[in-house]
Amino acid sequence: MGAPPQLTPEDRARALAQAKAARQRRAAIKSQVKDGSLSIHQVIELARTDEVIAKMRVLELVESISGVGKIRGKALLERLEISLTRRIQGLGKHQMNDLISQFSLPSLGKKGRLVVLSGPGGVGKSTVAAELKRSSPFFVSVSATTRAPRFNEQEGVDYFFMSDIEFDQAIARGDFLEWAAFAGNRYGTPKKAVTDALEQGKSVLLEIEISGAMQVKAKMPDALLVFLAPPTWEELVARLEGRGTDSPERRAARLALAQEEMEAAVHFDKTLTNDRVENVVASLIEWATAQ
Ligand code: 5GP
Repeated sequence: MGAPPQLTPEDRARALAQAKAARQRRAAIKSQVKDGSLSIHQVIELARTDEVIAKMRVLELVESISGVGKIRGKALLERLEISLTRRIQGLGKHQMNDLISQFSLPSLGKKGRLVVLSGPGGVGKSTVAAELKRSSPFFVSVSATTRAPRFNEQEGVDYFFMSDIEFDQAIARGDFLEWAAFAGNRYGTPKKAVTDALEQGKSVLLEIEISGAMQVKAKMPDALLVFLAPPTWEELVARLEGRGTDSPERRAARLALAQEEMEAAVHFDKTLTNDRVENVVASLIEWATAQ
């Protein structure tokens, strides 16, 4: 290792002044984040052209958000698989998107909005819902169904699996916010979990088929209805045909139904095309936040 560079007293004074200015700038940014006048999204944008901000540690930034603090900040980065020593300039694209969507629902968060994601079977609603569950503050409702579990599905995580009798009893008790028959089975949204989450100020996402979405809109006119459309009809057909977990009869029934379902888009508040999951998630959050 070579000897440290010989600094003149003027060089040293300049370097110290620069370091002080950088510290002050970072402190100012953090206090704006704390009082809510700067969002995480805005700070990440500023970091693109401002080296001082780009060098700020992500942990420092997250900790400065009102209500987060050291323990939650660390837990959040661990959950999003972002190293605790990572600087903003070192964030990958996915990590940036995860961070932004984690904090970009302030207005939704206060009010607790109900967002209904619907669209034809096979369009990829459940993948979008899973991504929202992973990377956003949405409470994603778990439905009840009389359908048999697929090999990779877990009770209470993917669905609450019920017998026909249990489903009848749940209807009779008024447990469902909505329910519908779909391709030979019944599906319903448990009401209590949804209303509890909304009362706690959480935003809730329902991933359900179209007639259920219409029932929700009739009961809760403030609900935001998002229609997820395939990039092309051919793509939807390919996805339905390719679903190895369904019998041929069930696939044919789903295809016929999908045709009808595509026509329902006009009843929705917003249509998003499922080109890429990350795009749908970002657009959905952006749109819902603006409502
Ligand atoms: P799958 O059997 O493929 O899991 O779901 C079939 C369809 O039922 C999908 O379109 C899905 O969105 C819908 N679905 C899932 N849960 C509910 C629910 O609680 N209510 C309604 N109406 N549809 C649901």
